[in-house]
Amino acid sequence: MCGIIAVADSRNAVPLTATGLFALQHRGQEAAGIVASDGSRLRVLTGLGLVDEAFPEGSLKALTGSYAVGHTRYATSGDGDLRNAQPLVFEHVHGPLAIAHNGNLTNARTIRKKLETRGAIFRTSSDSEVIIHLTARHPGPIEDAVIAALRQVEGAYSCLFLTPTKLIAVRDPLGFRPLVMGRIGKARVFASETTALELLGARFERELEPGEMVIVEGGRLRSLKPFPAHGRSAFCVFEKVYFARPDSVFGGRTVQTDRQALGAELAREMSEIAADIVVPVPDSGVPHAMGFSRASGLPLEVGLVRNHYIGRTFIQPGQAARDMAVRLKLAPVASVLKKKRIVLIDDSIVRGTTSRRIIGLLRRAGAREIHMAIASPPIVAPCFYGIDTPSRAELIAATRSREAIRRFLGADSLTYLSIDGLLRATGGTAKDTCTACFTARYPTPIVDFEEPGLIGSEAGGPAADQKARDARDQARDADEEDIYI
Ligand code: AMP
Repeated sequence: MCGIIAVADSRNAVPLTATGLFALQHRGQEAAGIVASDGSRLRVLTGLGLVDEAFPEGSLKALTGSYAVGHTRYATSGDGDLRNAQPLVFEHVHGPLAIAHNGNLTNARTIRKKLETRGAIFRTSSDSEVIIHLTARHPGPIEDAVIAALRQVEGAYSCLFLTPTKLIAVRDPLGFRPLVMGRIGKARVFASETTALELLGARFERELEPGEMVIVEGGRLRSLKPFPAHGRSAFCVFEKVYFARPDSVFGGRTVQTDRQALGAELAREMSEIAADIVVPVPDSGVPHAMGFSRASGLPLEVGLVRNHYIGRTFIQPGQAARDMAVRLKLAPVASVLKKKRIVLIDDSIVRGTTSRRIIGLLRRAGAREIHMAIASPPIVAPCFYGIDTPSRAELIAATRSREAIRRFLGADSLTYLSIDGLLRATGGTAKDTCTACFTARYPTPIVDFEEPGLIGSEAGGPAADQKARDARDQARDADEEDIYI
């Protein structure tokens, strides 16, 4: 998770980049930053919080130049403090160099340890700094140094590098994270999602291909394919399920449309639906519920209202406080829900704790039956490529049977979408999509995380003794009500 954007060859590079960051705010809310080049120097400004908090009125005047790179940060690797806010700027053997990175490397810790034992001193705890250290060990020029560095890392990266005279945009060979390019007149724009181009009035040109590097220098653009071909790509399907903005377009398909298709596919897969209404969990489940409603013929009702003025849920210890946090965010509409048989739609279940509280709210509001329907498959494995998922132990579907999850949620029934349905609805195939969170099949080695028992087993392996697991789960439900918080 993180949003990146760059504008090259524009007098308005800095204000355009800052504006574009607003369209990438959903990709990261912990910090934001912009680096600009005036042709000889790089100047950077970073701040904690949302884009408008990070750049107080007037602060961007300190940045000038016709090249700029911006970043919104969601910490999936490294601490959430300002030190790790990107773009990171370094003075090294090749001169000033900035990096803005979206994605997670899966061998950064291993490389970092090696470099540290040879005397390297790191300034941040971010995996992106490993790339910079590797570039400094190459004689250059800078694009060759970047290629040499990226050939040594594994995992997910869509990156923007800035020197005083060059912008380099690059996508990892499997293309886990998105990166698109467009134009405003002569200016070039690169961004994580097309919604940022739309906001700036830029014309969409194309997505960078997996493994492509584009260099903008002196008003000209060069494209290279510097990495060995993998014979497949691995675009993150969770971008389509949950993470990306619904108005963004990937591979010619609008995310909103794919989400509706996920809901429609789910309705087709549910054999019998004895219910009165379809209710989305707002906001993430709304398009999925629209698709479900259309395909099933059941009316869509707003049974939950979201309060948009509550910032991030302030989670306090204790059941009562946590229930209050959910009630602050979501209010049930009792007249819609009373005595109704409800299909409750959300895009995904991670720990199950939010869904459980929402079901509690609906019951207290008088719902007769609640059938939880999830428009993606069970999340059985952590993401090592940049989506914030907890460890396997905290993923409810990695450790519990379907029936145990249903009981934990307090739903009358629980249905998930199949993997085939997921791929059908999003237009993907096993050869061009990363489904690791749903299948535990990781498209790259995950060097840093290969501890025994961390990946897969119960979800992908042979079926465990179901009765024994159910009994264990039931005992755990009773003993440790809120173990997943
Ligand atoms: P829970 O019931 O606690 O598993 O929470 C499920 C909710 O979390 C769903 O509404 C999802 O849209 C949302 N969600 C899914 N993935 C993430 C994520 N990586 N970060 C934050 N929220 C997420």
